[in-house]
Amino acid sequence: MPEAFVSQQIVTPNAIRSGAVLVDNGRITAIVDAPFIPSGHRVIHCPGALLPGLVDSHIHINEPGRTEWEGFATATRAAAAGGYTTLIDMPLNCLPATTTIEALEAKRAAAQGQCLVDWAAWGGVSDHNADQIEPLARTGVRGFKCFLAEPGIDGFSRVDEPELNIALPHLARTGLPLLVHAELPEPLDRATRSLAGADWRRYETWLRSRPDEAEVEAIRLMIRLCREFRFHLHIVHLATAQALDDLRRAREEGLPISVETCPHYLHFAAEDIPDGSTLHKCAPPIRSAENREQLWETVREGVIDLIATDHSPCPPEMKRIEEGNFATAWGGIASISVALSIVWTGMRRRGFSLSDLARLMSQRPAQLAGLDGRKGVIAPGHDADFVLFTPDSDRIITAEQLHTRHPLSPYIGEHLYGTVTATYLRGNPVYEEGRVSESTLGHEIIG
Ligand SMILES: [Zn+2]
Repeated sequence: MPEAFVSQQIVTPNAIRSGAVLVDNGRITAIVDAPFIPSGHRVIHCPGALLPGLVDSHIHINEPGRTEWEGFATATRAAAAGGYTTLIDMPLNCLPATTTIEALEAKRAAAQGQCLVDWAAWGGVSDHNADQIEPLARTGVRGFKCFLAEPGIDGFSRVDEPELNIALPHLARTGLPLLVHAELPEPLDRATRSLAGADWRRYETWLRSRPDEAEVEAIRLMIRLCREFRFHLHIVHLATAQALDDLRRAREEGLPISVETCPHYLHFAAEDIPDGSTLHKCAPPIRSAENREQLWETVREGVIDLIATDHSPCPPEMKRIEEGNFATAWGGIASISVALSIVWTGMRRRGFSLSDLARLMSQRPAQLAGLDGRKGVIAPGHDADFVLFTPDSDRIITAEQLHTRHPLSPYIGEHLYGTVTATYLRGNPVYEEGRVSESTLGHEIIG
């Protein structure tokens, strides 16, 4: 039977309105005023706001190969609890890395029958695999990811400019985006050399080892290559505000560039991170409070297009919590189940609207992955993927709310606004009132 999702606050691309979203067979058919719900519809009353299901364009699911870090079952469970209905999986830290057709097929086999929400794959540009770029594009990856700095994990290596000169003509032909981890190795090496004898338990040491220049110089290199090869350049996890002028000018020039930042760069500040707190370790690092406010201003201005989690968990022992050593701890922050509340807490304080939230965390990430027309907005013809969200409720984050394989996150204990009360995938509840569904209706989105 078709459904009618009734809400006082339906967040559509054009407006926030009251009414009913009509759904048939998992697709949105129309949005109508509540008195005009046609007969024969099952009415579902939605307290709070009805947002499009979130799309995370930057997540490390880590399966196959490192399922003990996370995996499809636990990542999609945590995603459902966090209001996410589509995940685009990074080509690392799984093994094999998604740099060949065989690796993509291995990932598909691993995901089979395990997923609560939909997913798709990014391919990797790594290890001289330029000849794999076009075949991977034809086989269904949504775009490609590369590292300019050492990723610090087996199975994926960085690319330099000569390698990019070979890969980029292939990439440009696919029309798909290249997602770039933009830090250059030389400034990182210089900074690390200058820190001989430093105390790696101090957050300050970690921060100084990943200076702003590493990001700025990498972004300048990529802008130059974007101008030369004309491909869609996407800067992942921008952490420094110092690159914003370059990015602004490149976009004014008309270059096809998009930019993402992550919840942790918008929430935390270096000044507040305790020494030894390796749960806050990520690269590029969380920078100053002043830098954070500049990132927020740029989100408002639109030079930062979207917010993705970079959810990158690991087993607890790899975080070296007792040792508190920033040199040896794994760099990655787990946030998929609480990212919506983190971002909304920051937005609420700074006067953003629920429409901004939906655009930055659903519509734009869907566009990046070429899923517009299907995911990312509440509009006729799109999948009936929804988050029911109470924007004014607040809570203290606990380990039980994370739903990840390892309940480990710097957000435990944070006071956040906005709660996901339910998540629907193609009209089906996958999370309700603190409980994750047993269903595995999620599948890969190809084509
Ligand atoms: Zn990442």
